[in-house]
Amino acid sequence: MIRKRLICMAVILAVAGAAIPLTLSFYLSWNHALQARQEKLAHIANKAIVRTNQVLNEVNQALHTMADLRQPACSDAHIRQMRMIAIDNRSVEEVRYVEGGLLKCTSWGIPRETGSHPATDVVLSNGMHATLGVVSAASGGKQMTGLHYLAHHVLIDPARFVDVIADGDIQLAVATADGSVLGSVNVPDPQRIRQLLLHPERSQTEQDLFAQVGDRELVAIALESRSSVLVSLQQEQTLLLPVGVILAALLVGLVGWRLQQRLSPLGELTIAVQQREFVVHYQPLMELSSGACIGAEALVRWQRQDGSMVRPDLFIPLAEQSGLILPITDQVVAAVVSDLQAMLSHDKQLHVAVNVCADDIRSGRILEVVYRALEGTGIASPQIWLEATERGFIDIDAACITLTKARQGGHRIAIDDFGTGYSSLSCLQGLPLDALKIDKSFIDTIGTEAATSSVTPHIIAMAKTLSLKVVAEGVETQAQADCLLALGVDYAQGWLYGKAMPAAQFSRFYLERKKPVAVVSAPAPVLSA
Ligand code: C2E
Ligand code: CA
Ligand code: CA
Repeated sequence: MIRKRLICMAVILAVAGAAIPLTLSFYLSWNHALQARQEKLAHIANKAIVRTNQVLNEVNQALHTMADLRQPACSDAHIRQMRMIAIDNRSVEEVRYVEGGLLKCTSWGIPRETGSHPATDVVLSNGMHATLGVVSAASGGKQMTGLHYLAHHVLIDPARFVDVIADGDIQLAVATADGSVLGSVNVPDPQRIRQLLLHPERSQTEQDLFAQVGDRELVAIALESRSSVLVSLQQEQTLLLPVGVILAALLVGLVGWRLQQRLSPLGELTIAVQQREFVVHYQPLMELSSGACIGAEALVRWQRQDGSMVRPDLFIPLAEQSGLILPITDQVVAAVVSDLQAMLSHDKQLHVAVNVCADDIRSGRILEVVYRALEGTGIASPQIWLEATERGFIDIDAACITLTKARQGGHRIAIDDFGTGYSSLSCLQGLPLDALKIDKSFIDTIGTEAATSSVTPHIIAMAKTLSLKVVAEGVETQAQADCLLALGVDYAQGWLYGKAMPAAQFSRFYLERKKPVAVVSAPAPVLSA
């Protein structure tokens, strides 16, 4: 269930992990491209303003030069002067002399028809007047922008005002503040430009991208289709997309790695600890002389969510390696109290032995754990035995401190799996122990020809000399039990009596097999005379 949920979550995270950086890289590229285009348009519009001011200054100078001319109007000399000015000024296409609203002569001579000259549309701040859409025969009927000061007029190709280097499809226009377009290039719809100039916010559309730049008197507008951003977007994406792809791959990899970790044996054990998936079974401990049950060993089982049980030897080594054994021990102690509190607090003869890992023996942490668990439960500390294997005695001084404290606290201490480790009986002398559990491998040899079988009686005898109670582990046959009793072994544990069983089953077992309580007859009442 959890596995499925984890995989689902990982898939969602992986999809999000891939989608977010890619979307982000696209979004950033788009914004960047948009900003770049916008900046470019603003730059072009700015250049157009500069260019227009340049043209206006040139024209202004030319017009003032002509105003100062002293030759008779439309004389050859006057016309030659006007022609010189048209030739010298790149922006000026034609110079005209107008008197009383009538065109008298131009830089090209005396016109055949001296018609009226169009009226002024805009007056510029430097005193120049501008007339838009002036048609001149000399320019082949093209519409020109006329600028005049006093009697002299110059005609300028409107494209001259916006004569700046711009991309082919950028529409560019320069106008006066009131929207009179002095010059434009690439503008198919001048009305649209006028609208944008006068009401930029209202006239903006989703399809267009534009920038408007203005100075005191002039406004320039550069406009292009939004699709042009796609070109810049491609350039931006060659930079940002690989970053997005790498980031997405990293995130997906990270999710995969975390999932693998979570689904690894250690990951699963960690989840099991968090979910408190551990239960405790109890294996009866029998007194050999009476055949009565006097206690139990608490043996942990990992009950997975699908109901299956995992044996401790499959996960205890990993738990010990990773340190997870500490929270598992806490759960075992808590389970012992909650499973058997009623029976333990009621029957002080009953005890439960808890397996303690090497780390806990070294640090002494277990004492605090047990102390807190028993607080207020009515269970006495001698009812909790602690079983430590020889691995816990590697740091013999630290072990000695913990065991001494444990005994002072009232607990009984048993050395577990005796005979499988390196420690000798003499090394046990210095340790405060109460019982020695002989490993099953020795018990199995009883009554066989195996070399070790002869060792078992010696272990028992030495334990006796150290005043240790002896527990035989893994007793499976009555013959073994008889032999162990004859050798002086006190207690036995094994399938002969019962396997580790759930708490309720153990309670029934114990009630059937416990030591009968000795009945002490009350003294006869003394009758007073
Ligand atoms: P152990 O402490 O030596 O526990 C005795 C093991 O021998 C238990 O295996 C028990 O079921 C098994 N056993 C008892 N009688 C017989 C028998 O007659 N025949 C056979 N073939 N086996 C018998 P289990 O429960 O699988 O535990 C294995 C080991 O896991 C334990 O060995 C102990 O070292 C460790 N363990 C179990 N519970 C805990 C715990 O709460 N904390 C720690 N630190 N270790 C634990
Ligand atoms: Ca044990
Ligand atoms: Ca053992």
